[in-house]
Amino acid sequence: MNISPELFDMDPDMSDYTTFSHGLYIGGKWRPSSDGRVIEVIDPSTEAVIAAVPDATLADAAAAVEAAAEPATGWRETPPRRRSEILRRCFELMTERAETLAALISLENGKALRDARGEVAYAAEFFRWNAEEAVRISGEFGLAPSGANRIVVDYQPIGICVLITPWNFPAAMATRKIAPALAAGCTVILKPASETPLTAYALAALYEEAGVPPGVVNVITTSSPGPVTAAMLADARVRKLSFTGSTGVGRVLLAEAAKHVISCSMELGGNAPFIVFDDADLEAALDGAMIAKMRNAGEACTAANRLYVQAGIHDAFAEGLRKRMAALNVGPGTDSETECGPMITRKAVDKIDRLVQDAADRGAKILCGGAVPEGRGYYYPPTVLRDVPAEAAMAHEEIFGPVAPISRFEGEAEVIAKANDTEYGLAAYIYTRDLARGMRVASKIESGMIALNRGLMSDPAAPFGGVKQSGLGREGGQKHGIAEFMEAKYVAVTI
Ligand code: NAD
Repeated sequence: MNISPELFDMDPDMSDYTTFSHGLYIGGKWRPSSDGRVIEVIDPSTEAVIAAVPDATLADAAAAVEAAAEPATGWRETPPRRRSEILRRCFELMTERAETLAALISLENGKALRDARGEVAYAAEFFRWNAEEAVRISGEFGLAPSGANRIVVDYQPIGICVLITPWNFPAAMATRKIAPALAAGCTVILKPASETPLTAYALAALYEEAGVPPGVVNVITTSSPGPVTAAMLADARVRKLSFTGSTGVGRVLLAEAAKHVISCSMELGGNAPFIVFDDADLEAALDGAMIAKMRNAGEACTAANRLYVQAGIHDAFAEGLRKRMAALNVGPGTDSETECGPMITRKAVDKIDRLVQDAADRGAKILCGGAVPEGRGYYYPPTVLRDVPAEAAMAHEEIFGPVAPISRFEGEAEVIAKANDTEYGLAAYIYTRDLARGMRVASKIESGMIALNRGLMSDPAAPFGGVKQSGLGREGGQKHGIAEFMEAKYVAVTI
């Protein structure tokens, strides 16, 4: 399939964003890849090819860095108030076009429309939040302990940033990086996941309309992310790598970045425990479990991956969860009735099924779901298992699907040890009416984020990120998110 640049004269209402092939977005222009190759985009609900995007080469990667370098000085010198206004306009345009963007996310990712709508609102919020933060970046001024001089600390944009994002939140994972980078005064090259590139390109057109100058945001898709990323990191003008994705790829990228001593932010995999104590409000815990497990059909890094329920409430919780999970509507994401859409690929379905069969072989009991349906589309049914043993593979690997494994526990120390028995440390959930216990357990769980009596913790105003093998750095929050894209410059002054 050839790509002709005339096709990229996009309709601002986005109604035709999926009916033609997109170009790489480099220096404010849409262009095919240097060798004309494309990547096909698949609708996971039907397995049909819905679009094609260029497959960037090393030459395209070099062009993207060049394009990001051109406006770098102008953008860092743009007054913070002006940068803030442009970011605010991105928020407004995303909000105005929320329905179209949600439909696009649903189409290429498969997630239910209600999840896609939630994602657009969350993604847009990063622009509003960072528009507000962009004008509040400040430095430090103090007297050296010796009394000999003043210490002045200025925070400066770090430089050109390479941003790499996964397919599970095609809009939010991108805006969570782009908005703070632009607020800080950096220019960026985004490489979205090849499974879900359409949202990233649609948003690129929106940024342009909001007033983001050419070259400040560049977007390239490629089927060779390793070599393309390595080529960009090897350019001395690139000073930052911000990655969201699996821990395995994160490790590879950290090694690559180490060759050039490039600052890294890593948002990696998770294995969240969801702990319910006997004194929890059962209905609230079930509501929370449905959100923590089923937002995005379980395809979330923060998804509840292991549900530990105390003996006294265990049976009632397991039965309540079975009823709710079995009642969910499974179908194409774009269907407004759908509550659980398809998984992203056939490979993802196979992995989920392998984990479920492994747990069943080790003695877990399947309460509902647990079998791959026939027919087209990458579907897996909402599944609940109980009596899942600690040695089951799903207790250690990300399930990334609509599967809720329940295990019984007796005491507080026991469940803390179980929760921490993982290399990951991204998110954890605790349900108890005893606030002191909730805070005590929260303090002992090795995790970057805890939701206490809630099924959701993501918020642009709070620092998102993990400990252990779940990552390095934070996104969002007061100062944290922007700080990842800045460097401190210290000036010693005698006055
Ligand atoms: P992935 O690691 O396979 O891919 C993520 C991105 O990295 C994609 O754009 C991919 O093309 C790119 N990539 C793959 N190999 C690369 C390489 N060698 N060099 C450079 N780039 C490369 O992850 P995925 O399957 O797209 O996403 C799911 C994973 O992301 C899960 O592990 C999930 O927990 C994690 N995730 C984490 C967070 C977080 O904030 N911590 C958020 C969402 C998803």
